[in-house]
Amino acid sequence: MSTDTIPSSAETIDLFKQYVIPNYTRYPLALERGEGSYVWDAEGKRYLDFFPGWGCNLLGHCPEPVVRAVQEQVATLIHVPNTWHTHAQGLWAKMLSERSFGGQAFFCNSGTEANEAAIKLARLHTPKERYKIITFEGGFHGRTLGATAATAQPKYHEGLGPLMAGFTYAPYGDADAVARLIDKETAAILVEPIQGEGGVKIATDGFLRDLRRLADENGLLLMFDEVQTGCGRTGKWFAYQRAGVTPDVMTLAKALCGGVAGGALLTTKEIAPSLRPGMHAATFGGNPIAARAGIAAIEMVESQNLLENVDLIATVFRARLEALRDECEIVRDLRIAGVMIGIELAVEGAPIVKACMERGLLINCTQGVVIRLLPAMNLTGAQVHEGCDILCDAIRAARP
Ligand SMILES: *Cc1c(COP(=O)(O)O)cnc(C)c1O
Repeated sequence: MSTDTIPSSAETIDLFKQYVIPNYTRYPLALERGEGSYVWDAEGKRYLDFFPGWGCNLLGHCPEPVVRAVQEQVATLIHVPNTWHTHAQGLWAKMLSERSFGGQAFFCNSGTEANEAAIKLARLHTPKERYKIITFEGGFHGRTLGATAATAQPKYHEGLGPLMAGFTYAPYGDADAVARLIDKETAAILVEPIQGEGGVKIATDGFLRDLRRLADENGLLLMFDEVQTGCGRTGKWFAYQRAGVTPDVMTLAKALCGGVAGGALLTTKEIAPSLRPGMHAATFGGNPIAARAGIAAIEMVESQNLLENVDLIATVFRARLEALRDECEIVRDLRIAGVMIGIELAVEGAPIVKACMERGLLINCTQGVVIRLLPAMNLTGAQVHEGCDILCDAIRAARP
């Protein structure tokens, strides 16, 4: 479409006002197309995107190998149910297994679904009396009701009760509190190795090791929610590999299929049979389009050395943001794990998000005061500087 045939943002917003349930707070803009780390709105304005696809577009917008795989697949076979085998799903599972802890995969369509599968698996795999799952304050696991109950943030529970029974919450980082919560009914511990929505809080390796030990001593499953941290985000395939602590169960989604919807649960060959026939399913899970996209995403990361590139661009981000912190007292803390970046401020972040958007940079703010960046792995050093120039100006200008 050429620009003059594209409906304006105002026209699109009007459609939403009439026909779309207003359960999201949306920016007053319609996005039209994207390429790499740039995205264009309906008026033709270009933005540098440091938060592409809310963490889903880890390879940038419209990564060419993913586009090609999807285009080819969509003309061959769009969907078949899981009563059949497809080679793509099997190969995708093998590739994920070989890059993680060598287990087996269940495929679904989103992060919350992957976590629902993990919750069921924890209950199915452990003895009948065990059903409780320990999760962490400030965590985020999704919006379906099981995952909502797992999400220990009161604001997401308001008005929804009674919630699913069996979740108990510990402060993030406090292994002693976890030890005190464990009883004869505890089945599992579910944790993000880095809390994303909670403000980019990075668990210490020691904390994750303590959780591993507590799980082993008490016969619990250790389950890592890597929906946001997985698939290369931190410069390793999975964040657990940074800490050297291997979970029994890992959930993935967001960037898993290079921007196409897809989710997965990985677990060991010993635990996997507990998710037995008839106990769980997802109609679209592991469909050929998601599978081909997922395979293409893995191949792209490897053929373009993007895990190495994450370390390079993280170094540039760190240099820029540490300099900002040293000069600007409203920067309270800086937390960087690969291309997962949190800048905790002493002031509200929303006006900074707005100021950046006006100057052509897209970022996010979580927990009110944490600027969150989840840029693409294939960002260039020059683009890091281009965005940091705008971001640093906006933060400096926010000083009271
Ligand atoms: C985004 C997210 C989810 C939920 O994923 P959806 O695909 O939106 O259901 C779950 N866990 C974590 C850690 C996330 O960041």
